Amino acid sequence: MSDPINNAGTRSGFIAVVGAPNVGKSTLINHVVGTKVSIVSPKVQTTRTRVLGICMTGEGDNKAQVIFIDTPGIFEPRRRLDRAMVHAAWSGAGDADHVLLLVDAERGMDKNTRAIIERLTKTQRTVVLAINKIDLVNKPDLLGLTAKLQDTGVFSELFMISAEKGDGVAELLDHLAGLLPEGPLLFPEDQITDMPERHLAAEVTREQLYRKLHQELPYAATVETESWEDKKDGSIRIGQVVFVERDTQKAIVLGKGGHQIKAIGAAARAELETMFGAKVHLFIFVKVREKWGDDPDRYRDWDLDFNA
Ligand code: GDP
Ligand code: MG
Repeated sequence: MSDPINNAGTRSGFIAVVGAPNVGKSTLINHVVGTKVSIVSPKVQTTRTRVLGICMTGEGDNKAQVIFIDTPGIFEPRRRLDRAMVHAAWSGAGDADHVLLLVDAERGMDKNTRAIIERLTKTQRTVVLAINKIDLVNKPDLLGLTAKLQDTGVFSELFMISAEKGDGVAELLDHLAGLLPEGPLLFPEDQITDMPERHLAAEVTREQLYRKLHQELPYAATVETESWEDKKDGSIRIGQVVFVERDTQKAIVLGKGGHQIKAIGAAARAELETMFGAKVHLFIFVKVREKWGDDPDRYRDWDLDFNA
């Protein structure tokens, strides 16, 4: 029996994951959550809005709920959409109990990472550092980078991880859990994200657009779930729209005889069926909306600040 007086209770709190685009923030969060809550791609700026990945760790009195805030990569903004994304990233960091900075072991201290560290030095909070993708570099290179990063004096702790392979991730998670304030769990134990299902479904299709189309196009495209119907037979009927900016882009998304959109739809449907554990009927329409990047409605849909 546990002593009621010494019962430490649970911990629960927010960790903002920040870093340059493409360092592996979403990969790490999906790994700890155990399923995909944030889309990942080799292209930069895949994550557009703030995404929560909720992860339970420990047992009994050591139980902790680590709520990761995945943020869009922080980079120098040019377009309105970029500015809104950077704003979302920094406000995610502001909302959190602690900040985890991810650095790409291979790219090291690039311009983006340097700028982020500079800004972090001005915040009076614990910043944990994780050097990711250690599977891609050899030890000597890693030591040089580690020394340079520690010289900044910003970090309370340093971890070396491979978010993709899982190396070092358990130790990092344990450490982060220990930093969180004691208190009741902020979300039900089995909840893994706060993203509405229709939004998650749109993200799954957007990821397939990134994967199947190799031109610049994916940045010019956005996906919205317009209809969702839970059928009596247990299946789900989902209607989505892919917005592009020009007719030529629409032609690329459709492909010859519609083969491209069929492949995108088939891949997205398969993933949605696994995600929701149900048969999915997915209907995707492609619409041209010139300048959707300047349309306030699109921003509201993603919880981005149009005027950032
Ligand atoms: P984000 O922009 O920071 O969210 O980065 P993503 O999670 O989207 O990852 C960007 C790319 O890096 C993807 O192609 C990932 O598969 C890859 N990646 C992430 N973590 C690792 C890792 O530990 N090792 C290797 N080799 N690749 C990784
Ligand atoms: Mg991401």
